[in-house]
Amino acid sequence: MSTVKITKDSHNQTENIPVGSIVELRAVTKAYTQNSYTLLNASLNIQKGEFVFVTGPSGSGKSTFLKLLYGQELPTQGEVIVNNLNVEKLRGDRLSFLRRQIGIVFQDYKLIPQRTVSENITFVLQAQGYTRKEIQRRLDPTLKLVGLLSKADRFPDQLSGGEQQRVSIARAIIATPPLILADEPTGNLDPDNSWQVIQILQKLNSFGATIVVTTHDEHLVRKCNYPVIQVKNSKLYKR
Ligand code: ADP
Ligand code: MG
Repeated sequence: MSTVKITKDSHNQTENIPVGSIVELRAVTKAYTQNSYTLLNASLNIQKGEFVFVTGPSGSGKSTFLKLLYGQELPTQGEVIVNNLNVEKLRGDRLSFLRRQIGIVFQDYKLIPQRTVSENITFVLQAQGYTRKEIQRRLDPTLKLVGLLSKADRFPDQLSGGEQQRVSIARAIIATPPLILADEPTGNLDPDNSWQVIQILQKLNSFGATIVVTTHDEHLVRKCNYPVIQVKNSKLYKR
């Protein structure tokens, strides 16, 4: 397999990132109820290293698309392949393995109120059995990347919305997943904070991560000029 040289990941290491698709939908249909199709026979490719926006009206299926990628929902028909794994066939350990390849960012941050910024960012690593030393090695560069080094010991309610979203991004990326999914990450933010979030995602993309961001902010989409996946009439159109 051919590779491209990526000079840095978020921890200043050199990596060889294989070229190819990281997400593939093959004739995917998703019906939550009979005869009502959120997706109908939709096919799509996302290449490793791409930054793509997913747009479409409310209720069109943007969140469903992301849920299919991290195995929260299974396709009614068709196949979802992520990082060469067929999501539908994954159970238990192998589903956990897939989820460790994916960092997820939500519109409403989902931070634990009684835990500090650092604790919110690192608890997943602790649960995954990383050593204290390894967690420590990753924490400061990650905090720095999202501009929160000076707020490591604060609690979520002592932060602005933009800062809370940056904590949730730090939590999503501290394990350096190759794929980052963000579901309306700027939905609750003003334009300045939205732009900061996009810039952080752009930086991660420059380190080699594939980024998939749902949004209905047309202004943001136009400003960035990245490929766009439009969810419309139960299909996915990439342009
Ligand atoms: P979007 O994120 O674009 O707003 P969603 O993916 O959340 O859209 O929803 C797409 C469609 O699927 C909507 O019609 C929604 O009502 C339906 N839907 C989503 N989740 C469920 C569910 N758990 N059960 C039944 N219908 C659902
Ligand atoms: Mg949604």
